Amino acid sequence: MNAEIVSIGSELLLGQILDTNTSSIAKKLAASGVELIRTATVGDDLRRIKEVLREAIARSNIVITTGGIGPTEDDLTREAVAEVFNRPLQYQPHLMEQIEALFKRRGFRMAENNRKQAFIPEGGIPVENPKGTAPGFIVEYPNGAIISVPGVPLEMEYLMETTVIPYLRRRFKLQGEIIQYKVLRACGLGESAIGLQIKDLMKQNQNPSVGTLASIGDIKIRITAKADSPVEATSLIEKMEGEIRGRLGSLIYGVDKETLHGNVMKEMERLNLTLSVIETFTGGILSNKLTSTGRSSFIQGLILPSNRSQSGFLKISEDEILSLQKDPQTLCDQLALRAKGEFEATLGLAMVAKTVEEQGREEYLVETFYSISTNEEIERQQYSLGGELWMVRERASIIALDMLRKYLIK
Ligand code: AMP
Ligand code: MG
Repeated sequence: MNAEIVSIGSELLLGQILDTNTSSIAKKLAASGVELIRTATVGDDLRRIKEVLREAIARSNIVITTGGIGPTEDDLTREAVAEVFNRPLQYQPHLMEQIEALFKRRGFRMAENNRKQAFIPEGGIPVENPKGTAPGFIVEYPNGAIISVPGVPLEMEYLMETTVIPYLRRRFKLQGEIIQYKVLRACGLGESAIGLQIKDLMKQNQNPSVGTLASIGDIKIRITAKADSPVEATSLIEKMEGEIRGRLGSLIYGVDKETLHGNVMKEMERLNLTLSVIETFTGGILSNKLTSTGRSSFIQGLILPSNRSQSGFLKISEDEILSLQKDPQTLCDQLALRAKGEFEATLGLAMVAKTVEEQGREEYLVETFYSISTNEEIERQQYSLGGELWMVRERASIIALDMLRKYLIK
C-alpha cells in the first residue's frame, strides 16, 4: 500500500512556517503499516496543485493533502481535487449547519466566505470537523483515495486519528503489517566511525532496516521493523539492537527520547552523587542542560569567563591566573578541585579552553581541557575542537557529559 503526502500552502515554500504536518502524518501512516513513498510541498497555485495531485494519484493508492481548505481565496485544494477528477463542487447543507454551529458556540459571526467550506467534490465523502471550520473530504478512485485534511495542526491531528486512519484501515484492510521503530543514541564517535562499525547492517531493503542521523555530538541509530504484529516487530528490533550494542558497546548512552544529560543525572541521583560545575567558555550551556533534568544531584553551576572571576574564585591574584593560564590543564584541575570543595560535592567538573588559531570564516581551532575532581583523584581529558565557536561550545559540553558518564560506568 503506497502513500504520498502533499502539503499545500505558499507560506511553507517561503519558509515562514515549518511543515510539521508531513512528519506527523508520516508517523501515523508508518504506525499503520502504510508505506510512504513520497512527500511534496506546493504553493497556493491551482495549476501546480493539480499537477502534483495528478502525479501522486497515478502512482499511489493513498494521497493525503494538508492545507488549502480554509475559507480564503488563496485556499484552492478543494477546487484542485474537483478539477483533477472532473467533478463539480457540491454544496453540503449539513456541513454548512455544522460550520454555523461552531461559530455560534465560539461566539463569532460567520463570514460569508466560510460558505465555501461546505462545498466538496461531487460524490466525495465528507470528513466532519468538530474542531474547526474546515471539513475535510475523501474522493475515491478505482484503486485508491485522495484525502484532504486541514492545515491547522490540531484539526489535522484530530481528523487523522478519528476519521482518516480508521477509514484507511477499513478500505485497505490494513490490520496486517505494522511498522515499529526504536532509536539507539550514541556519542563519543563521529557518525562515519559509527557507520563503519555497523555498515553491513545499514544495507538497503533489509528488515529491520538501520539508519543513522547525526547532530552535534549526538548520533541516533534508528532501527525500523516491518511485521504482521507488534510482538513480531519488537522481537525483530530486539535482535538487531543486541547486534548493534554488541558492536558499539558503551558508545550507546540511551534510547528513543532519552538525552545524554538526562541519563547522566539520573545515574548520579541513583548513586547518591552530587555535582558542581565550572564553565569558563561555554557560557552555561552545560549548566543549562543539567538544570533541565530537574535532578537534585546538580548543586551548582558557575560561569567564570574572565581573569577576574577566575582569580576571585580560586582566591589568587590576577597575575597568578595569567601565569596559570599558560598551563590550562592545571588551571582546569584547580577549578574542578575548588568546585568540589566549595559545596562539598562528590564531583567537581571544570572546563577550560585555549584558542590555538583562527581558521578564517569565523572558524577557530580550540584546545579544550576537562577535569573531574573525585574523592580519589582527578580525571582529565583534552580535545582539539574546530569550527564556529557556538559549535565548539556545544561539543565541549557534550564531551564533558560523556566524560562524566564514563566515570559513572567505571
Ligand atoms: P490552511 O488550511 O492552508 O488555511 O492552513 C491553516 C494554517 O495551518 C496555516 O496558516 C498554517 O499556520 C497551518 N499549516 C498549514 N499547513 C501546515 C503544515 N504542513 N504544517 C504545519 N502547519 C501548517
Ligand atoms: Mg493556506
